[in-house]
Amino acid sequence: MIYLDNAATTPVRDEVLEAMLPFFKQFYGNPSNVYSLSLLARRALDGAREAVAKAIGAKLPAEIFFTGSGTEADNLAILGLARARKDLGKHIITSAVEHHAVLHACDQARSEGFEVTRLPVDKFGVIDLECLNKALREDTILVSIMLANNEIGSLQPIAEIAEILRKHQAYLHTDAVQAVGHIKIDVQELGVDALSLSAHKFGGPKGVGALYLRTGVRPKAIIYGGGQEHGLRSGTENVPGIVGLGKAITLATEELSMNSKLLKEKRDYIIKEISRDIELAKLTGHPERRLPGNASFVFAGVEGESLLMQLDRQGVCASAGSACSASALGVSHVLEAIGLRPSIAKGSLRLSLAPDITYEDIDKAVSIIVKSVKKLQSIAPKATLRKFVQEVEGAGK
Ligand SMILES: *Cc1c(COP(=O)(O)O)cnc(C)c1O
Repeated sequence: MIYLDNAATTPVRDEVLEAMLPFFKQFYGNPSNVYSLSLLARRALDGAREAVAKAIGAKLPAEIFFTGSGTEADNLAILGLARARKDLGKHIITSAVEHHAVLHACDQARSEGFEVTRLPVDKFGVIDLECLNKALREDTILVSIMLANNEIGSLQPIAEIAEILRKHQAYLHTDAVQAVGHIKIDVQELGVDALSLSAHKFGGPKGVGALYLRTGVRPKAIIYGGGQEHGLRSGTENVPGIVGLGKAITLATEELSMNSKLLKEKRDYIIKEISRDIELAKLTGHPERRLPGNASFVFAGVEGESLLMQLDRQGVCASAGSACSASALGVSHVLEAIGLRPSIAKGSLRLSLAPDITYEDIDKAVSIIVKSVKKLQSIAPKATLRKFVQEVEGAGK
């Protein structure tokens, strides 16, 4: 099997699993209690909090709040901050290409009386700062823009957005779930007030995430109970998961510069091979300002779902857009936002790499992809292929 879907999730690393295991059966104490078994668990949480703070350049470990997922971190940031700041205004700005964890949390805020502006993006999936300037209002309380897109890999100019907001009351939240562990993250340089991350996207376990909140930034809780995580996330802490997150983020950060160089070389090799061997193919996302491990395409005359099934039969795991929209049957809102018609957007393929993939496996996967796409294109109506040429290649490949 060749796994090319690391943006959907990654396997837990051996060192991470090893770090987690003692906290299931040996050090199982509830971190809130006073005896020494609990103290061990609490120390482990403190260690993980320090590791996360260090990895993302937070000033203090107390600025890190553990959650049950990246989705929950996004919900806490958006709904929590909106509800906490409603007396200052009821306007939220986000973008058209956010993950559903952000878009649907914004929908919920809208149903509670907030007004939400979704900024459009250009053909590379990047927001326009002029548009942001125009959308900003006196009553804007929150801007939530992702750092890196999960489908097409494009990076947003977060530091520039922070600069625009410097003298404005609006907080800046960024969904950095695809970025953490893959590109350098420094919350001071980015200038964000809140940042979401998730362990399973960088070699950690599923079901654990974190929200960075700059000191002084205080959302309302969205879960109520025993008051863990300074009242922001009640519920007994997922100690093994949090330990795993801490270990995974430490390893990913240590290996970042080497891995991102490897990934970029392999990504660019895949893009070159596929673009050369498949005639009617277009790279989606920004050509340079993109995640090091993301190669995403649309192919003329191809049904993404059929392609994925053919690839699966030949041992290649990839996805059409995001794992989350795969079941929705509709076309991706991201591809729609970059201006692709549904008939073209449905021919999408996202390859997301791990740094240790071999060139032998890449060559194998590319040859399977090329063969499968060509087969599907050979039975596609000629009119569909012509339309792709007119609409996509005509607009500048
Ligand atoms: C995966 C992902 C999420 C959701 O994280 P989970 O931990 O799976 O809930 C949110 N945003 C982006 C950009 C993602 O890629």
